[in-house]
Amino acid sequence: MIKLSNFPFSTLKTAPKVSENRSTSLLLQGSYIRQVMAGAYEFLPIGYRVLKNIENIVREEMDRAGYHEMLMTILTPRELWEVADRWEIPEYFKVPAWGNSEYRISPTNEENVTNIMNEFIQSYKDLPTCVYHIQKKFRNEKRAKSGLLRGREFLMKDAYSFHRDIEDFDRFYESVKDVYLRIFDRLGLGADTYIADADGGAISDKNSHEFQVKLEIGEDTIYKCKKCGACQNDELVDEEKGFECIECTSKDFETFAASEVGNIFHLGTKYTKPFGISYLDENNKMVNHVEMGCYGIGVSRLMGVMAEYFMRDKGIAWPENVAPADYYIIVLGEENLEKAEELALDLEKTGKSVILDDRMGKKFGFGQKAGDCELWGIPNRIVISKKTLEQGGYEILRRGEKELIVKI
Ligand SMILES: [Zn+2]
Repeated sequence: MIKLSNFPFSTLKTAPKVSENRSTSLLLQGSYIRQVMAGAYEFLPIGYRVLKNIENIVREEMDRAGYHEMLMTILTPRELWEVADRWEIPEYFKVPAWGNSEYRISPTNEENVTNIMNEFIQSYKDLPTCVYHIQKKFRNEKRAKSGLLRGREFLMKDAYSFHRDIEDFDRFYESVKDVYLRIFDRLGLGADTYIADADGGAISDKNSHEFQVKLEIGEDTIYKCKKCGACQNDELVDEEKGFECIECTSKDFETFAASEVGNIFHLGTKYTKPFGISYLDENNKMVNHVEMGCYGIGVSRLMGVMAEYFMRDKGIAWPENVAPADYYIIVLGEENLEKAEELALDLEKTGKSVILDDRMGKKFGFGQKAGDCELWGIPNRIVISKKTLEQGGYEILRRGEKELIVKI
């Protein structure tokens, strides 16, 4: 458990004014994060708990779907990036090394994964397969802004799938949409998450889909067909001809701002061809056509989007499965410490995580403690004081409910 009497990462009295969104101010005020430079943040203990909780939900759903987790390198050799001609991309970092060698710190891992799967995909029995990892990524952004939303360094889940043919790929691609929607559902974003047709950009030559969360500060504009509900990114809307629905050709639309939390791409043979992946089919014949897809979720970015989405007046009302702790125990009066610790241990025995606010002294009255609980968005608040003990126990306040006295 975290005991706040010995926890250096205290909150700030007021939210620092940053030019970015208000949720970034709250994340700074709550000492969830600190900025090292534009686009790069340290995750402090409270913030890292949130990040890990989000990461674990993403991981659980990847594993449930049968994708295999691995861990590829951040540092990659220039030669690997030359295979599919992606060394010269200004948004991707290069680092000089000894002699004439140069490395890249990875912005994405198509090259790594295709290179390694080239060794392990030998037979038609090895297909289809999907691997993923969750790791720091780096982009040489010209302008890094918006707190966790657009970083030069960020945590990302990237998955890669390999298939015999386009039919198998298409089936799989559709199933990933369900896996993703389930993740955003579990994170409490389901009602405002939209799948939008998008432009593949530098990763893919083909079209792709984005998962967009409706958000006032969102940097993307989504066009939603009023007739069939299909969505597309404004990059795909023809400037001269205007909107025409990709699904039903209706020209009737509404627009809203949204923030991207995930994307999926069809890569075709863009990487599998130059890396020369081949396998033996049922007739022992060599086949050198393998379809590939990639699937990203920006985990640290997702934390930024969730902070904005769940932001309230004085804090971030994280969903229970993401909050830094399940319970926040406010103890008032030194003489009640022992009772509070007992309760905290009991809760931990049932698998709950606890922050015990055992700070004493004039500075740490009920207001300060309740404020920190709200800033950190802990869903269950317990108060133990002389008054509650006189009433027979402790007071519990579950988010969205009324205070209640529980007997000890
Ligand atoms: Zn339509």
